[in-house]
Amino acid sequence: MKFGGTSVGDVERIRRVARIVAHEHREGRAVAVVVSAMAGETDRLVKLAREAGGEHSNRPGVGGKGFDDEYDVVVASGEQVTTGLLALALRQMGHPARSWQNWQIPIRSDDAHAKARIDTIDEAKLGAAIDSGEIAVIPGFQAITGEARITTLGRGGSDTSAVAVAAALGAERCDIYTDVDGVYTTDPRMAHKARRLEKIAYEEMLEMASLGAKVLQTRSVELAMAQRVKVRVLSSFVEPGQPNKGTIVCDEEEIVEKQVVSGVAYSRDEAKVTLLGVEDHPGVAADIFGRLADAHINVDMIVQSESRHKGRQNIVFTCPDRDAPRAAETIEAARAKIGVEDIHIRRDVAKVSVIGIGMRSQVGVARTMFAALAQKGINIEAIATSEIKISVLIDAQYTELAVRALHTAYGLDAV
Ligand code: ADP
Ligand code: ASP
Ligand code: MG
Repeated sequence: MKFGGTSVGDVERIRRVARIVAHEHREGRAVAVVVSAMAGETDRLVKLAREAGGEHSNRPGVGGKGFDDEYDVVVASGEQVTTGLLALALRQMGHPARSWQNWQIPIRSDDAHAKARIDTIDEAKLGAAIDSGEIAVIPGFQAITGEARITTLGRGGSDTSAVAVAAALGAERCDIYTDVDGVYTTDPRMAHKARRLEKIAYEEMLEMASLGAKVLQTRSVELAMAQRVKVRVLSSFVEPGQPNKGTIVCDEEEIVEKQVVSGVAYSRDEAKVTLLGVEDHPGVAADIFGRLADAHINVDMIVQSESRHKGRQNIVFTCPDRDAPRAAETIEAARAKIGVEDIHIRRDVAKVSVIGIGMRSQVGVARTMFAALAQKGINIEAIATSEIKISVLIDAQYTELAVRALHTAYGLDAV
């Protein structure tokens, strides 16, 4: 069972979480619980770390790249607090419970600070304690390296911790309790006509998450898919014993009625970088995107078009908003060498995507999307597609309008 930040936002809520956990335990199930930090706490810690010294490392040998390991020491601390509080609340209710910090298990990861990946979980001691009837309470979002330094798994990483623990323990299911009662056709905060999905395929959930639906961290879905962990997303605001069906994330084969489009996702964390008048010869793209990769900038959409000037082309790409200035600096520094006439950045853009496994066998999906946007007068600045998704880049001020229009156009609105 995993509980997110809002669900453990104060002691009253932690008591409700304890009641939900206690209910499962009383029903005779062995439980491991993964908790996030209290709502807002990780943001507060990130801010403190930035104020104290920035996040990027200038340790000798690290060369200014990557996150500082002390950043993780700071931001991981929020989850230790909630493990202790939940264990205390459970004990007060008469249930045997104890917290397990990562080094006590241990959960090991690589040393990519702030975005570490879990390598192994030693489930022996943890499993034995659970088998003896104890409820194990584990901090999400973190692990330790081979040298026992603290790492964190990227924002939203407690979902990944939960799936990894479930896989290591061979759990029947991984229940992700959050502040919505399941996975919806789109962010219910964005469109009130969004509908809860009974089931969603791993692949669709993976696309939804990576295209902006933060209800599950992308990596957690990847892991669940690879390890065949059955994931359920449900509300932590429902008292135990009350109906709380949630959404099951499962194999495509388990879904009888495959929708052409099952969901709409959006991300405002985008920036568009335009390189004008780039020299047009083999090796230029490799040079540009090689430099961006070396600077650890994750490029998403790429559009290349002819320029009015002979022997020149224009290249447009998108990257996370925070990285945009660095992306421009990286190209600027090698501008003469690459042969770029001008560089522009636009940061007020958003990516809106439609996702569905039914798209594979259906024509006209893109047409519906483009027509719905055109009808609202929304201009498309870039397009990217895969087998089961279509994404467009638009002016950020139209995000909500676009999400709602697409939700209606694909017949997803609740009646
Ligand atoms: P937690 O703190 O429990 O991990 P998050 O804030 O990380 O919770 O994720 C839950 C939020 O995800 C919801 O409050 C909702 O606004 C947002 N969300 C975005 N897209 C969706 C979607 N398709 N279905 C459900 N929730 C979504
Ligand atoms: N507390 C961490 C965060 O805010 C991890 C999580 O909530 O999943 O990103
Ligand atoms: Mg989350």
